[in-house]
Amino acid sequence: MERSEVRILLLDDEPFILKLHAHMLKELGFVSIRAFENGATALEDIDSGHIPDLVLLDLSMPQMDGIEFIRRLVQRHYEGRLILVSGEDERLLQTADRLVRAHGIDILGHLSKPAKPATLRGLIEAWEQRTTFTPRGPGKVYAGAEVRAAIRNGEIVNHYQPKVSLTTFEVTGVESLARWQHPQDGMVRPGRFISVAEHIGAIEEMTRSVFHQALVDIQNLDRLGLSLPLSINVTAATLNTVEFADFAAGETTRLSVSPARIIIEVTESQLISDQRAPLDVLTRLRLMRFKLSIDDFGTGYSSLAQLRDIPFDELKIDQSFVHRATADPTARAMYDASLGLAKQLGIKTVAEGVEDRADWDMVRGTECNAAQGYFIAKPMPPGALPSWVEGWRERAKSVL
Ligand code: C2E
Ligand code: CA
Ligand code: CA
Repeated sequence: MERSEVRILLLDDEPFILKLHAHMLKELGFVSIRAFENGATALEDIDSGHIPDLVLLDLSMPQMDGIEFIRRLVQRHYEGRLILVSGEDERLLQTADRLVRAHGIDILGHLSKPAKPATLRGLIEAWEQRTTFTPRGPGKVYAGAEVRAAIRNGEIVNHYQPKVSLTTFEVTGVESLARWQHPQDGMVRPGRFISVAEHIGAIEEMTRSVFHQALVDIQNLDRLGLSLPLSINVTAATLNTVEFADFAAGETTRLSVSPARIIIEVTESQLISDQRAPLDVLTRLRLMRFKLSIDDFGTGYSSLAQLRDIPFDELKIDQSFVHRATADPTARAMYDASLGLAKQLGIKTVAEGVEDRADWDMVRGTECNAAQGYFIAKPMPPGALPSWVEGWRERAKSVL
């Protein structure tokens, strides 16, 4: 993309900073720049169709602050890039940074106010280099029609990532993660098609197919002597329909898989947002003996009261509070707080994103029940699970 084509949105409550940053961007050859002094008008502009490719966002603003604005961007499935601008607070910056990454938004970097032209230019040039060197563009999102066809043609397949106990090191289950086996692009991860499927109203159809396939896969594993609990990701939009609970119950009966073996994962942010999964559907699933898990915990700001209302069995601490938490006191504090909360509620905990030895040692030193992450295993096709489990049992002896 040429600089003249890049659409930029500036949001800062200080008009002087807006003018200054706009001027600097123009000097760099950008022409499409829209500037706003508050979040509400910026969102109105986005909703009227001016979807930016890049947002320069001030974190501290009266009324709607930067964190709130990020949440609103996420609700709108923002696919562009972000530069965080801050006056002072390093901690706020760190929190915002983690939040943004947890939502899969690409941050180009930070600027302290007022930005230096050279710093801004550096961030933009790094971005441009990355974009030209990645053959198909890092964030290519597919067209709705393509995604719909992929679902219909059975191109969405399940990979599985194991989860292990932190006390016995036994494999305690597998989580199904959707992959698009794209005829040209290879294995495509869900970040590039789930939000599209949600947008075009095809997510329920996809969830049903993922659900069905997962039941078939665990039954095949049963036959190989590997009986494991299964976690499935379900978006709140799907849970909004009463039919889903009936579908899930019907499928488990038809394929004779006990619902008690199935954990339904719903992300925390979706549970408490406007499109929240209704309590009655969740309760119904629980009555049918399905288990419920709250995913990406820590990124959604739910209160203890909200959590008490929903009968959860498991809480998954978001990877942004696990990976490298040893080196990041704010992340570590969030991690510990989540464990404490789960304990109060009497539910099991899983640490996500245990990516390296340091993460593994850190989580082992806590009261967390289970761990999941690249250090243990990457998601894999179902056929690879039996030999992985065997290998893990051997490896567990040495990681003990
Ligand atoms: P999630 O449920 O939080 O899944 C964990 C994601 O983190 C997976 O990405 C997994 O591959 C990745 N991951 C696991 N361990 C590590 C680690 O140690 N380090 C790092 N950096 N990453 C790790 P994936 O497969 O790209 O999935 C992304 C998200 O897409 C999932 O996040 C989930 O919210 C969603 N998703 C996946 N499958 C489905 C599905 O069938 N239905 C729905 N509705 N959403 C799905
Ligand atoms: Ca999950
Ligand atoms: Ca998660």
